[in-house]
Amino acid sequence: MSNVFVLDTMHKPLDPVHPGYARKLLSSGKAAVYRRYPFTLILKKEVEKPITQPLRLKLDPGSKTTGIAIVNDASGEVVFAAELTHRGNQIKEALDARRGVRRGRRQRKTRYRKPRFDNRRRKQGWLPPSLESRCANILTWVNRLSRYCPITTISQELVTFDTHLMQNAEISGIEYQQGTLQGYELREYLLEKWERKCAYCGAKDVPLQIEHIQCRKKHGSSRVSNLCLACEPCNSKKDTQDIRDFLKDKPDVLKRILAHAKAPLRDASAVNATRWALYERLKATGFPVECGTGGRTKFNRSTQGLDKAHWIDAACVGKSTPDALLVDRVKPLLIKATGYGSRQMCLMDKYGFPRTKPKSAKVVKGFQTGDMVKAIVTTGKKLGTYVGRVAVRASGRFNITTATGTIQGIGSQHCTAIHKTDGYRY
Ligand SMILES: [Zn+2]
Repeated sequence: MSNVFVLDTMHKPLDPVHPGYARKLLSSGKAAVYRRYPFTLILKKEVEKPITQPLRLKLDPGSKTTGIAIVNDASGEVVFAAELTHRGNQIKEALDARRGVRRGRRQRKTRYRKPRFDNRRRKQGWLPPSLESRCANILTWVNRLSRYCPITTISQELVTFDTHLMQNAEISGIEYQQGTLQGYELREYLLEKWERKCAYCGAKDVPLQIEHIQCRKKHGSSRVSNLCLACEPCNSKKDTQDIRDFLKDKPDVLKRILAHAKAPLRDASAVNATRWALYERLKATGFPVECGTGGRTKFNRSTQGLDKAHWIDAACVGKSTPDALLVDRVKPLLIKATGYGSRQMCLMDKYGFPRTKPKSAKVVKGFQTGDMVKAIVTTGKKLGTYVGRVAVRASGRFNITTATGTIQGIGSQHCTAIHKTDGYRY
C-alpha cells in the first residue's frame, strides 16, 4: 500500500505517513478520514509549525493509461503511486455515434439547404475532445494531489528521445552502445525513425532488434546511419549477409532502406501534441516542471532492474530520479475516468425510435450512479458486505460493482456512501 496523506486542521498537507501509523492515528482518535480515494486523514489537533519534506510529482502520460508517482528525491522512496485510465476512446465513439445520427437526420429530407455561413473557429491550443479529456484528467489529478500532499516540483515525460542529442548523433556520428543512457535514447530514436516496424518485412507489434545494415563483422559502424530495426526472424535470416545479397529479390525495399537510413528524422515528428499541451498547462500551475525523455525513463528503469508498469515508469521519469527507488511496499491506486453520465434523455433503437422511457432523476434516495458505497446486508439471499461503485435504479434496488463482480438488487437502505462520485472509479 502507498503512504497515507495527512492534512492539518487548516486543510494544509503534511508529510504522508506509513499506513501503520495512519491506523494508529485513527484508532487513538487523533485523526479522522477526510477522503477515501486517495486515502487522506485530517488531524483533529493543530500542529505547530509543521515541517514538510519536498516531494516530486512524476507523470508518464500515455494514450490509454497515465502513470503517476510521488517520489521523495532525498530518500528515493515512492510515497504514492497511481495509474489513471483515460476515456479518450469512449469519447470518440460517442461523438462518432452522434455524428452518425445527425447525418441520418439531415439526409432524411433532401431539399436543398443553403450552405451556412462559416462561423466555426477553433481557439488557439484547441485539442480534439478525446485528447482534451486526457489532458484534463491529468490536470485534475495534479491539482487534487497537490491539495493532499506537499508537492514542490513536477516531472513529466515530454518526448520519446532527446532531440539535441540525436541531431549530434546524426551529424557527428555518436555510436550506438547497448545499455548506456545514450543507447536507450538512440533506441527510441530508431523506433521513431523506422516507424516501429521491421525495416525488411514491415512486421509491427513484434519485438524489434537493432540491426546493422552493413553488419559489424564486415566492419559496419554503429553510427545511426548504419542502423535499422528488424524483427527476430529477419535478423537471423540476414545474419552476416550483405544487405545487397539479402534483398536482391526486392530491389525497391533495398532502395528504400538505404535512402531512409541516410536521412535524419525531422524534429517535428518526435513531439507529441498532447504532451506539449499538457506541459504548457502544467507550467501554468506554478510548479517548476522538469521534462524527461522516454529513453531516460527506460534507462533508469532497466538499470535499477524494475518491472514494467505505468507507475514505475512515472517514478523513473527525468534526470532527478534517485539512484535507488524504493518501490517494494507500493501498490498503485487504480483510477478510471468514467465521466458524470450522459445527457441523452433516452436510448434509441437502430431506426432512431425511443427504446426506453425518458430518464428519471439522477439522485435516488440520496445516492447517485458512480458513488462508492458500502452495503451491509444481514438477511436474505444477498447476505454479505459489499464495497464498490453503485449504479442507482429508480426502484431503490441498486447494483453494486465490487472488485469481484456486480451484485444486483441491493436495497438502498443497506448502503452507506463512502465516497461521492467525482468522475472517477477506483
Ligand atoms: Zn521482419
